[in-house]
Amino acid sequence: MFCPECSAEYRDGFARCSDCDVPLVPALPPEEREAMHGDGEATVFVTREITEAETVKELLEANGIEVCVSGESSPLPGVPGEVRLIVNLRQAELAHEIIEDAQVEAEENLDNVVRFPDSQGKELH
Ligand SMILES: [Zn+2]
Repeated sequence: MFCPECSAEYRDGFARCSDCDVPLVPALPPEEREAMHGDGEATVFVTREITEAETVKELLEANGIEVCVSGESSPLPGVPGEVRLIVNLRQAELAHEIIEDAQVEAEENLDNVVRFPDSQGKELH
């Protein structure tokens, strides 16, 4: 059992933190504590690809933004779950800019890869 306030660990049999006088919880929610202290949260990215979510998360963290990952892969094989990246509201705007920049860059790279000479007369878009 853990105290949600001070993160102290208690043995079974304790129901309240003796320091904080709050009910103990079975487990501390990972990474959620700090985000809760902010002005709010904003979902800045939603994807069904966990690898994509991790890439964006790393990108944001490299820019000093704390990221909460919410949602999970679907328990059923072959069925994609939905993953959300949640940041502090104060950092949401910056996060959006970083993600947009990254997506523009990715699209430009994609264009370079898939651009065909126009002999086929077809656009792939
Ligand atoms: Zn406590």
